[in-house]
Amino acid sequence: MSQESFDVIVVGGGNAALSAALSAAEQGAKVALLERAPEEKRGGNSKFTGGGFRMVHHGAEDIKRIVPDLSDAEIARTDFGEYSAETYLDDLGRITQYFIDPDLAETLVQNSTDTVHWLMGRGVKFLPNFGRQAYNHEGRFKFFGGVVIYANGGGAGLVESEYKAAAKHGITVHYGARVRGIVRGQHGVEAVRVLIDNVEHAIRTRSVVLACGGFEANREWRTRYLGPGWDMAKVRGTRYNTGDGIEMALAIGAQSYGQWSGCHAVAWERYANDYGDVDGQHSAGYRHSYPFSIMVNANGERFVDEGADFRNYTYAKYGRVVLAQPGGYAWQVFDGQVMHLLRDEYKMRGATKVRADSLEELVQRMQDVNPAAFMKTINEYNAAVKRDVKFDPNIKDGRSTTGLAVNKTNWANTIEQPPFEAYSVGCGITFTFGGLKINTDAQVLDIEDNAIPGLYAAGELVGGLFYFNYPGSAGLMAGAVFGRIAGRGAGGFALNRA
Ligand SMILES: Cc1cc2nc3c(=O)[nH]c(=O)nc-3n(C[C@H](O)[C@H](O)[C@H](O)COP(=O)(O)OP(=O)(O)OC[C@H]3O[C@@H](n4cnc5c(N)ncnc54)[C@H](O)[C@@H]3O)c2cc1C
Repeated sequence: MSQESFDVIVVGGGNAALSAALSAAEQGAKVALLERAPEEKRGGNSKFTGGGFRMVHHGAEDIKRIVPDLSDAEIARTDFGEYSAETYLDDLGRITQYFIDPDLAETLVQNSTDTVHWLMGRGVKFLPNFGRQAYNHEGRFKFFGGVVIYANGGGAGLVESEYKAAAKHGITVHYGARVRGIVRGQHGVEAVRVLIDNVEHAIRTRSVVLACGGFEANREWRTRYLGPGWDMAKVRGTRYNTGDGIEMALAIGAQSYGQWSGCHAVAWERYANDYGDVDGQHSAGYRHSYPFSIMVNANGERFVDEGADFRNYTYAKYGRVVLAQPGGYAWQVFDGQVMHLLRDEYKMRGATKVRADSLEELVQRMQDVNPAAFMKTINEYNAAVKRDVKFDPNIKDGRSTTGLAVNKTNWANTIEQPPFEAYSVGCGITFTFGGLKINTDAQVLDIEDNAIPGLYAAGELVGGLFYFNYPGSAGLMAGAVFGRIAGRGAGGFALNRA
């Protein structure tokens, strides 16, 4: 047993863990954060994010409170819309086919704005996400998908600010510390077992917050729980989230919860590395402009409604759809009319891309797509587009196709104006949906829904929030909301127990 002992041990080193550690320290607890990654790779998936936060707001005034530098000119040419608690709850319900745990949903939504302000108080700066969440269309921006703000510096900026705040709060941080087990005694958790340099230590504690991610980086578990073929998916973010937290909680009686066969997975650069690389161009893998494309598979056929909804509400389920295509890949095809709308990643090094001045030439360059079927698909698609409906990327414009086996509901531009570009995508997994059951105080529950004394959880490893799909930017928000609650609970529990 190590000589060290703490009131609260937080397992993990991403946004949920840091939120928990800060909140526990604010209770006056002595806190340690144990991060499996080495220091230079700290920050988990949170570090890989764009830093978007989905929160309740009621328009420009609320945004100005979060972004004080917002200028009058910016306000004048922007429609921030409103994202009410009702709309947020409706989105969570609709997106998850109403499987979401209603109490967790309510907790997430009701605490969202306040938690953003709380993070601001801990040094995180937020900015409006022009360009990504609002297109410049005819001189005006309109936020289209319920998300307005992102952390300055994206995910890297977010976790950097949070680690700075952790240092200020006197939180002990150990890197390269892989927690493998929780010791449970008569009155609750008593210690964690942790591997440091492959040597096992036990560190005493009065409470534990698990915030160490899902099992997306565990190839074997992916195949076991998500199903055959998922071993072939690329991991978009950290390599360290292999399900340890879930496994060690189940081992001491925690209840499994949520959709274990479900995950957040996107259309991602087909030849991306197996894992994300925080030091490299990890964001180069994004291919999120597909609502303005048509996607075809190896048979040259369309297979999904690219314009069913805003990207925020479809991207997290389309990775699975791509994985299910022959060979597990697809191509996104754009023409000259929409090229200006492509996100920056399309221009980055490493994109599997072909370009041509005719569609016949383009498909020859795509090589692994049936050319005759591709031409037939394009011709039928072009003929089916409602050309008389005006295109507008900031609204669901209803410019659709009619009469196709797979129609496109919005943003259906014809593919006819050179130059033509096509980008090859595979499946990139972001995080898994199955995990542990918690209550609204973020306490981990056993099979009889009783809280395991001293054990709390937050972030990806919490089950019950997302099923089948996910509304963009709810992950960081959920991690911060439940991390903050977990830290508060764990700190209070530890100090009362002392
Ligand atoms: C490319 C990409 C972009 C994204 N963009 C967004 C976005 O803009 N907005 C949004 O809301 N969400 C986004 N997400 C999703 C978001 O990353 C997650 O929802 C969120 O970061 C999860 O936070 P977390 O703290 O639970 O997990 P993580 O940030 O992954 O942290 C888990 C931590 O646990 C550590 N760990 C794992 N096992 C152990 C162990 N045994 N012992 C100790 N430590 C351990 C890991 O090293 C890691 O530090 C994105 C994800 C990716 C990959």
